[in-house]
Amino acid sequence: MRKYVIMGVQGSGKGTQSKLLADDLDLVHISVGDIFRWHVKNHTKLGAQVRRLVAAGELVGDDLVEDVVSDRLHLHDWNYGFVIDGFPRNRRQAEFFLESYDIDGVIHLDLPDEEVRRRVLARRLCSQCGMDYNLIAHRPEVEGRCDVCGGELVSREDDSPDVLARRLRDYHSKIDPVVDLFRGKEYVMTIDARADKFTVQQTIRARFNLPPFDPSRGGEPAELRS
Ligand code: AMP
Repeated sequence: MRKYVIMGVQGSGKGTQSKLLADDLDLVHISVGDIFRWHVKNHTKLGAQVRRLVAAGELVGDDLVEDVVSDRLHLHDWNYGFVIDGFPRNRRQAEFFLESYDIDGVIHLDLPDEEVRRRVLARRLCSQCGMDYNLIAHRPEVEGRCDVCGGELVSREDDSPDVLARRLRDYHSKIDPVVDLFRGKEYVMTIDARADKFTVQQTIRARFNLPPFDPSRGGEPAELRS
């Protein structure tokens, strides 16, 4: 069983790295932000409660987030473990989490603010199927259109310069105490997230003594490999 927390500022590649790790090692990727976005998109009661906060890039209340995380983890569909992404985001959430779960490691992706701005402002999302693009690293073939479904590409509402500046300030003030709390338990690995996604993934694997990642296989699950 492998249980990891992945932390890093917006645009540091948490989602990408979590997916590469999870798909290959059969872990469940739990993105709290994705859960909230799903509820907003599907107009659920929870979606209505968090819609404004998510759009503004503000943190949802701790009680609500903790319920969402507990409910998700109680599904127990993570036979081989999980990578939780976007949680905990402050000290209280970290303490709550550590009371209930032992974790094997904290992957802390480190990216300078200037690089965060460059990456985040280039992010695009398909308005129909949700596929991610980046105008620096992963451009669509036809400008403004999704390669998969032809849907219109849009920016996430919380990827605007104003929201980003506030999120960066907020992130540093809240996440540093979380990193310190985990560091006290000696399983935080800070990884330089400026490199390309495969190099970052290899570094994560090496630091946690996990099987090396083979980029030529495109991150396909281990059981599909010949
Ligand atoms: P993310 O995709 O991780 O950037 O999260 C998107 C949004 O979901 C955040 O801006 C918050 O509004 C909300 N959110 C996600 N995770 C948390 C958390 N741990 N605590 C509070 N709000 C969260």
